[in-house]
Amino acid sequence: MVSITSKIPTYKNYINNEWVESASTKLIDSISPMNKNEVVGRVQSSTQDDLERAVNAAHHAKEDWRKIGQSARGQFLFKVANILESRIDEIAETMTLEMGKTLPEAKGETSRGVAILRYYAGEGMRKNGDVIPSSDNEALMFTKRVPVGVVGIITPWNFPVAIPIWKVAPALVYGNTVVFKPATEAAVTAAKIIECFSEAGLPDGVLNFITGSGSIIGQGLIEHSLLNAITFTGSETVGQGVLKSAAERGIKSQVEMGGKNPVIVANDADLDKTVEAVISGAFRSTGQKCTATSKVIVEAGIYEAFKEKLLQETEKITVGNGLENGIWMGPCASESQFNTVKSYLSIGKEEGAQLISGGQVLTGDEYDNGFYITPAIFENVNLDMRIAQEEIFGPVIALIKVADIQEAIKAANDTKFGLSASIFTSNINSFLKFSDEIEAGLVRVNAESAGVELQAPFGGMKGSSVGSREQGEAAQEFYTEVKTIFIKG
Ligand code: NAP
Ligand code: MG
Repeated sequence: MVSITSKIPTYKNYINNEWVESASTKLIDSISPMNKNEVVGRVQSSTQDDLERAVNAAHHAKEDWRKIGQSARGQFLFKVANILESRIDEIAETMTLEMGKTLPEAKGETSRGVAILRYYAGEGMRKNGDVIPSSDNEALMFTKRVPVGVVGIITPWNFPVAIPIWKVAPALVYGNTVVFKPATEAAVTAAKIIECFSEAGLPDGVLNFITGSGSIIGQGLIEHSLLNAITFTGSETVGQGVLKSAAERGIKSQVEMGGKNPVIVANDADLDKTVEAVISGAFRSTGQKCTATSKVIVEAGIYEAFKEKLLQETEKITVGNGLENGIWMGPCASESQFNTVKSYLSIGKEEGAQLISGGQVLTGDEYDNGFYITPAIFENVNLDMRIAQEEIFGPVIALIKVADIQEAIKAANDTKFGLSASIFTSNINSFLKFSDEIEAGLVRVNAESAGVELQAPFGGMKGSSVGSREQGEAAQEFYTEVKTIFIKG
């Protein structure tokens, strides 16, 4: 039973610069994965009418927001960054409570949000076009990047601060207005981010925030006729629907989906550093990063030594409430994620892989009401097994033994995804071969698969991403259209 106390905070939608209740008068509870009896907060269960108001507000605001100019828009983002910076501890704590990531990780992510805001605030002063020589000497020809219009933003729960900010900030600075629907599992954290934008004093209707079910509000947003572009991060199934709908209407779309990220361990890898990076890449955030390590492909010569060290270090991982000191890994973010991980553990065993460490559901005392599972390692995994092909989005490693680097790269590419991939080696030839042949948008050498820098392009190949890259200056491609201007005196 869910405990109901008057202390539970309730968050409204933010439409046309007002915090408003949904017409439904219904609320959705956001539950803590550390204790399913704890309601972290309540958000609006919005209706099609609420969505209509949000999209219309964004539509009516777009002309004035475009005219205000890029530099002035950047100034708003500097203000938002300062407000978010003053609330890092509080927002990080909400994130930990709401989706289980440990407090240091949540703080790191919130600080990252501040840095992303500052990066795009700086974009306010950077160039938005090029001069191109005309064949007519008396003419001036140049390009100018202009806003797309109303951008719909749909985000997942796994990076509840960073992903919304890396979409909202470039959308706004390049002159678009926004309707943002966050993941329900992390909607309270998202509401707090919107409070920071609201406090910075954006003009009416520029940023609108609406919570509710994916199939009603998410789907309704994707299909809305006033939308000019849609950016989505989440699962493959929903992402495919976004692409189809956008293509039918001829609007811009950017879709970031899953990963099945491989790490190759070469015979000449530094054992200690490699094990540390594999553990961090696979198990931080309970394996719920789209760039998390999930297939570890090991050359035969180092296999036994690597496995032994990996098992030793994995045993040391402390699992528990991410708000407590000394806890390295929190719970799965929700009951459904918990069930997914458990089902993949059964699938792996049924397929004939051997679970050689972890994969235990923790019970007793504070564990009973949470979604805790220990980090799991399978060996004797064949490439055609589901645990070697499908995204699990949990703390599970599949160990695969190979004869050489060529076989390792082939095994790494044997997936429909192509987000991130790493190799650990001290051999320049292996590194060059890997960076040339690997099918991944993020290619990492002697570094974990899960590292991302905000100033560099982010996105994948194959089934992981469709559309132009996010983050850094690459984001400009999606959030703007190019006008080619020719002036003859
Ligand atoms: P999800 O179920 O696809 O949900 C993502 C968002 O879409 C949520 O806001 C969700 O709303 C909404 N949604 C659900 N059904 C919808 C529909 N029919 N139409 C429109 N919107 C809909 O994914 P998730 O479980 O939150 O996130 C995990 C997935 O995200 C993983 O596959 C992971 O790999 C991927 N991910 C990818 C990246 C990347 O950059 N490549 C980054 C992070 C995560 P509700 O919450 O209300 O259902
Ligand atoms: Mg939750």
